[in-house]
Amino acid sequence: LAQPLARVLGGQLGAYIAHVHREHGVDLRLGARPPPSADVVAVGSVPRTGLAARSGLEVDRGIVVDGLGRTSAEGVFAAGDVTRFTHPLFETRIRVEHFQTAQRQGFAVGRAMAGAAEPYREVPWFWSDQYDLNLQYAGAGLPWDQTVMRGELGRPPFAVFYLSAGRLVAAVGINDHHNVARARRLMEAGKSVTPAQLEDPAFDLRRGLA
Ligand SMILES: Cc1cc2nc3c(=O)[nH]c(=O)nc-3n(C[C@H](O)[C@H](O)[C@H](O)COP(=O)(O)OP(=O)(O)OC[C@H]3O[C@@H](n4cnc5c(N)ncnc54)[C@H](O)[C@@H]3O)c2cc1C
Repeated sequence: LAQPLARVLGGQLGAYIAHVHREHGVDLRLGARPPPSADVVAVGSVPRTGLAARSGLEVDRGIVVDGLGRTSAEGVFAAGDVTRFTHPLFETRIRVEHFQTAQRQGFAVGRAMAGAAEPYREVPWFWSDQYDLNLQYAGAGLPWDQTVMRGELGRPPFAVFYLSAGRLVAAVGINDHHNVARARRLMEAGKSVTPAQLEDPAFDLRRGLA
């Protein structure tokens, strides 16, 4: 497997991550059948929507809900990994597999059940420590058409920002959690900065929040 995570992070960063693993003696393979000697097998996960579908709720690779967790049936709510929910910042439905999103979206849905009308609007985020590298990602894995690099690929710390039609939709940092956190705050505030500012290590992204 030459470029793991390529759909979300792009081929260049995927190739870098593959390189890091190979340097540590890990052989990455993509295939339907794991080799007999595999130590870790990534199989992915599938939302368990059978009960919802049999009950007549709208299902589309997850239980479809709006920003308040309302399903297609009046008075029936759903939250967590199993839902594909409308995200107000990205203006599309997303499904996330992360405990923090499941928990906080759940809080918002609980409040909505009690009458509040404030949708869950955090930008999904995760981190992963791999050897001496800390990888952090903020975004929803949505399509992008432009990437901007801050720093130098392969020389941590560095960050990559993902834009769609000029709008920041995701960020990843390798040993660069500050810039991921700042990009996340920019997205949540609906603020934009220019590609040149994203690229410039001297430009503090917090200035974009002003
Ligand atoms: C191996 C593994 C490692 C993970 N590591 C991380 C991590 O490091 N960090 C992170 O953020 N997230 C991690 N996750 C994801 C995290 O576990 C989920 O995001 C989180 O548990 C989602 O919470 P949830 O309440 O939406 O769903 P769940 O925790 O999956 O809870 C759903 C519950 O519903 C029950 N259920 C399903 N169908 C029915 C039914 N028909 N009737 C009654 N009950 C039913 C299930 O048994 C389950 O108890 C990991 C997941 C896995 C599988």
